[in-house]
Amino acid sequence: MSKVYFLKTENNSSDELLAGKLKALIAKEELFNFIAEKDMVAVKTHFGESDKSGYARPVILKRIGELVREKNALPFMTETSTLYKGNRDNAVIHIEHALKQGFGFENTGMSIIMSDGLYGDEEIDVPINGKLYDSVKIASLIVKSHGLVCVSHFTGHLIAGFGAAIKNMGMGCASRKGKMVQHSTAKPEIMPELCTKCKQCVMWCPAQAVTMGDDSAVINNDKCIGCGECLAVCRFDAVKYNWGATYEELQKKIVEHAFGVYKANEGKSIYINILTRISKDCDCMSRYENICGDIGVLVSHDPVAIDAASLDLVEKFSGRNFSDMAYDIPYRFQIDYAKEIGFGNADYELVEC
Ligand code: SF4
Ligand code: SF4
Repeated sequence: MSKVYFLKTENNSSDELLAGKLKALIAKEELFNFIAEKDMVAVKTHFGESDKSGYARPVILKRIGELVREKNALPFMTETSTLYKGNRDNAVIHIEHALKQGFGFENTGMSIIMSDGLYGDEEIDVPINGKLYDSVKIASLIVKSHGLVCVSHFTGHLIAGFGAAIKNMGMGCASRKGKMVQHSTAKPEIMPELCTKCKQCVMWCPAQAVTMGDDSAVINNDKCIGCGECLAVCRFDAVKYNWGATYEELQKKIVEHAFGVYKANEGKSIYINILTRISKDCDCMSRYENICGDIGVLVSHDPVAIDAASLDLVEKFSGRNFSDMAYDIPYRFQIDYAKEIGFGNADYELVEC
């Protein structure tokens, strides 16, 4: 059974207050003892697509960086490039975007170094001996750094069911090729008879894969990266996914990539899930729809245990199944599949702090 520490918060409590309590908890429980002097420690986060999304705020990262420095180690924030064109598809614009979002040194006390290099192609094959892959392609610095602090904002997710530590590791720490491999099977289809030509999907597709044809929107499968944004924005049910072939497949791929991240940092990682500003969609989406009151922060050395505990807490606090709050798909599949491949431990002991 894995320990998961739970720090409860009041609804709409300040980020500053929460960050201070998190720092005190980590120090008291000596949770950063895996960090040694002179270690270069990657603090993986998500800088948010817009200032409206619910990403972990800079002050949380600042306190984490301070704790790493107290070990006489060197923290740096890190991220990877997205597959789709936008604010975050290469290192230069991604870092500029992060700075605009408030993640500068003055607010976090850390520099930003992209794990997958300038173009998202710097990667290391990590052997996992999984059911789908013998090895997975993980961003170089996630493997080369001497420790990993993975800070994840808990959200719903259109295809993965929910996004937290496993998703942040599996997709968020994969190189561009690793991400491509994960997205390769999920492709949507337009139903022309239902399409009203409202152009929402054309406007929101991050890969510019949708154009307007004579009778309906048209998807270019060569450009499509399977992100599901078109499905989310279409109000007329004109976009269809073959869910049976996608959600299970994608979740398995995410979990196996997350396993690679975990293995590359075995004994040298910790996971922090932020359960505030919980949204229906992940932080890659620019829209924000809050689906649950603020719950708190969880910390664990086990990414599977922390995600299982996060899901349970969200359902307990809201009194609803997560599929009624976000998307109606089997949202515990990630956890179940992790168990199947011997990754982490879904059984946890919740330590309320
Ligand atoms: S959002 Fe839906 S209805 Fe609008 S153009 Fe796209 S497929 Fe057609
Ligand atoms: S899934 Fe839809 S929105 Fe995403 S890349 Fe493909 S066509 Fe574009």
